[in-house]
Amino acid sequence: MKKIAIVGAGLGGLSTAIRLAKSGFDVDIFEQNNEVGGKVSEILMGDYRFDTGPSVITLIDVINELFELAGADLSEQLDFIKIDPISRNIFYDGQHFDLYSNVDLLKSEYTRFTGIDPDQINKYILKITNIYKLTADIFLHQPLHEYKKLIKEKKFPPLSDFLFIDAFRTMHDANKSYFIDEHIVQVFDRYATYNGSSPYLIPATLNIIAYVELILGSYYIKGGIHQLVKAIHGLARKVGVKIFLNTKVDEILHDGNQIKGIRIGKDTSYYDYVVANSDVVETFRTLLSGFPAMTKKMEKIEPSLSGMVFMWGINKTHENLLHHNVFYSKDYKNEFVEIFDSKIMPTDPTIYLAITSKTEKNHAPLLSENWFILINMPYINENLKKEEFDLMRQRVLNKLKEFGYDIESNIEYESIITPYDLQNRYGANKGSIYGISSNSKFTAFKRHPNRSKLLKNLFFAGGSVHPGGGVPLVILSGKHVADLIISTESLNK
Ligand SMILES: Cc1cc2nc3c(=O)[nH]c(=O)nc-3n(C[C@H](O)[C@H](O)[C@H](O)COP(=O)(O)OP(=O)(O)OC[C@H]3O[C@@H](n4cnc5c(N)ncnc54)[C@H](O)[C@@H]3O)c2cc1C
Repeated sequence: MKKIAIVGAGLGGLSTAIRLAKSGFDVDIFEQNNEVGGKVSEILMGDYRFDTGPSVITLIDVINELFELAGADLSEQLDFIKIDPISRNIFYDGQHFDLYSNVDLLKSEYTRFTGIDPDQINKYILKITNIYKLTADIFLHQPLHEYKKLIKEKKFPPLSDFLFIDAFRTMHDANKSYFIDEHIVQVFDRYATYNGSSPYLIPATLNIIAYVELILGSYYIKGGIHQLVKAIHGLARKVGVKIFLNTKVDEILHDGNQIKGIRIGKDTSYYDYVVANSDVVETFRTLLSGFPAMTKKMEKIEPSLSGMVFMWGINKTHENLLHHNVFYSKDYKNEFVEIFDSKIMPTDPTIYLAITSKTEKNHAPLLSENWFILINMPYINENLKKEEFDLMRQRVLNKLKEFGYDIESNIEYESIITPYDLQNRYGANKGSIYGISSNSKFTAFKRHPNRSKLLKNLFFAGGSVHPGGGVPLVILSGKHVADLIISTESLNK
């Protein structure tokens, strides 16, 4: 039986492992932390419960496919709850716009908010639907960089299709061409942050993200998003994957051409294949010797946004808030200039607030709420000063107060995650949440492939490689890696 080592038990690593074990490989996962799931974790503080990472799940078919393949019934294990309205979007002028997945409700809300008919919503939806149809198969569901194979199998769409995927203007410019109202533009521009980028730089092709959430739906999982990790962990054990916690891989061993195995401390073990679920830049920087040029090249690619998370147990309830809420900045463009150009903490941060106790009362004590706040932050750089993080906390509290939510004295419990925590706990390059940013054209091609071009038998799964960050995409990366290894094996036979 061929032996495979996986570095990291994030969802990318776990899903790769399940597929490979199911296909008859002997799979070991090594995880440096004391739990599986990577960025998808949870904490309890008193009677408050919090997810510490993802709060929105999309593309649930991708998760379903993984369970089916492993012979399990997803619906028996997880209860996906569609959240609609997706979010309440709140502005400085006191107005709010509820973003609905239900298209009829979305159109009525648009008309209520703007006073005009919803024609533009129809046009926008038509456009994002076309983008999804033209791009999803090739950019999400295939290992994009296997050019020869994809061309042979005629998977690439004709060049003429590329004219319709809106690759030559930014998401913001596209959204401005659909909507006159600046608030609405801001709401749809925010989709750029779902893959850690700026709406003023990211190609409008990435409006595919809006399609995925608006049309295919935005989900929460009963019991918390962390239930997904528990279920996938159970699946991995069921199919025979061995998981070693508190075990940091120190080196991926190779002879310059081929993978030999891994080193943990002084112990070396032989493996036929290694899959790095660790961040690809960190993997080249710290686990693979002998590739300085590649490391330099990887380090030059701009990382995605980082973030700061505030989890607050609040002994107060707020009728006007929903499960997901967003308090916008006055000058959205400036927020991204500060984050990506000046690389400083935003002076007027957009505040994303998720309250799962709105959907599940037992996530907070009676007459209380569990507030999870995520702020976009620059990736770690010399302008980001650790000592300023307290200032960000105060900025968030002051801004909430300005919006009518004076909650400082109601905070019973608090836990904070900074960009340095993301770097230290999960090995995220410069604390980036989603690997690399999509702030330039053709980023999909710049993202590292799932198969190494330098070393035979080395593969990559996770948010820093193709097809990108976010729960469903890292699960897809696991599918690509497993398919590539399985087809390599069948060619070798
Ligand atoms: C605050 C926050 C909010 C988010 N919100 C959403 C959301 O709403 N929706 C969504 O879809 N996504 C969201 N994401 C992104 C999503 O969580 C990630 O894209 C995804 O979980 C990353 O999975 P991964 O497989 O790349 O592995 P990671 O979760 O990055 O895990 C990699 C694992 O590898 C381990 N590791 C690294 N190096 C080594 C080594 N040398 N030896 C052993 N182990 C090692 C790490 O400890 C870690 O456990 C969010 C992320 C964060 C942080």
